[in-house]
Amino acid sequence: MSGDVVVLDQVGKRYGGDVVALAEVSLRIGYGELVAIVGPSGSGKSTMLNVIGTLDEPTSGTVVIDGHDVARLSDRQLSVLRATRIGFVFQQFHLAPGVPVADNVADGLLYAGVPRRERRRRAEAALDRVGLGHRLGHRPHELSGGERQRVAVARAVVGEPAVLLADEPTGNLDTGSGTAVLDLLYELHRAGTTVVVITHDREIAAALPRQVRMRDGRICADSRLVSSGVS
Ligand code: ADP
Repeated sequence: MSGDVVVLDQVGKRYGGDVVALAEVSLRIGYGELVAIVGPSGSGKSTMLNVIGTLDEPTSGTVVIDGHDVARLSDRQLSVLRATRIGFVFQQFHLAPGVPVADNVADGLLYAGVPRRERRRRAEAALDRVGLGHRLGHRPHELSGGERQRVAVARAVVGEPAVLLADEPTGNLDTGSGTAVLDLLYELHRAGTTVVVITHDREIAAALPRQVRMRDGRICADSRLVSSGVS
């Protein structure tokens, strides 16, 4: 297996024939990298993240995630890959309302075949890791936006995915809470998790080790290729 957790080869995505969301995008992301995806609105960032997350099927090209050519997987195999190897964080948190945060996080393991008691134990450990070990019984509405997003991060990483995909995770947060969520992504990266994060915030992006810039459905700059002398 290659050292890359994400391989996109000439990936295209069209909507309704004439909207080209992605045009021949090729990208490799190695295990353990922390990558920012940047670019103007409508440039294809979310589409690319959804293709990487196997939520969206490309119209052309090849997508290999954690060694699996996703076009060759059955629906069931794809669900398993998504549930066990890919973690998602979205701008709108997507936590189940009225459900204690420990259960929200534990439910991230429902489809991974982990027994109930073990789900609970791992959920508590994941919440500890994001600094919310003292909030296990709180409901999402009892938490601040920043805390809710940290719960969402805990849920995304509780199954120890090969890659964590975050679509504007700080988009709904004030600067302080956004920084805390970002610090958390950094910490996960230092502990070995691969993180791919879409951000509008130039300062955030500039601070990350690798930036991939999109425009009109294409990758127009990639700091890794520049720094390694490949173009
Ligand atoms: P970004 O995340 O950079 O804002 P998107 O990936 O959301 O960009 O969108 C890329 C392009 O694809 C845009 O022109 C957008 O309008 C179009 N698009 C995205 N999703 C759909 C969809 N479900 N149906 C039709 N067009 C879409």
